[in-house]
Amino acid sequence: MTLITLIATLMMFNMPKLPYAHNALEPVISQATIDFHYGKHLQTYVNNLNSLVPGTEFEGKTLEEIVATAPDGPIFNNAGQVLNHTFYFLQFTPAPARHEPEGPLADAIRRDFGLFGSGWAWPSADKDGKLHITKEANGSNPLRAGLTPLLTFDVWEHAYYLDYQNRRADHLQALWDIIDWPAVEKRLK
Ligand code: MN
Repeated sequence: MTLITLIATLMMFNMPKLPYAHNALEPVISQATIDFHYGKHLQTYVNNLNSLVPGTEFEGKTLEEIVATAPDGPIFNNAGQVLNHTFYFLQFTPAPARHEPEGPLADAIRRDFGLFGSGWAWPSADKDGKLHITKEANGSNPLRAGLTPLLTFDVWEHAYYLDYQNRRADHLQALWDIIDWPAVEKRLK
C-alpha cells in the first residue's frame, strides 16, 4: 500500500462493524433483513458518500460534522443515512445485559418520555439533559438542532417488512427486547 492509497483509505467512510452475527438478532430482526438493510442499503449510502465527498469542502470532515452543517442535497442525505444507520445498528445486542436503562438515562426517560410515530424517531437529549422525541425525514438527525441523539427507530419499510410485513407496531415493540442499554447510556454525555 502506498502512502497515497493509505491516506485515501483513511479518509474513506467505512461500514460500521456489527458487534453481532447477521442472524443473531432473530427473531426480532431476521438475517435476511440484516443482509439487505445493513449489507445493501447501508453499503450503498457508504459507497455514495465516498464517491461524492472527495474534492468538496467536506473532505476530511467527520460524519457528524457533515450532517450538522451540510446543506440539503446528496452529500447531506447520504451522510445522514450513514450516520443514522450506524447509530441504529450499534444500539442492538442479541444478549442485552438488562431490559431497562439505568442511571441518568432512566431518570430522563421517566421524566420526559413520550410516544413516537412514523419517520426516523429519535429520543435525544438537549444540553440540559432533558429528553425530546423528534421525527426526522430522510437523512436528517437531531444533532442538526443541537441535540444529542440517544436512540433511533428506523421505521422505513426496509427495516421490518421482510419480518413483520405491515405490522410496524409489533416490530417496534420487539426492538425493545434487543436494545443494548449500556451502549445507549454512553451516548448520554
Ligand atoms: Mn434503514
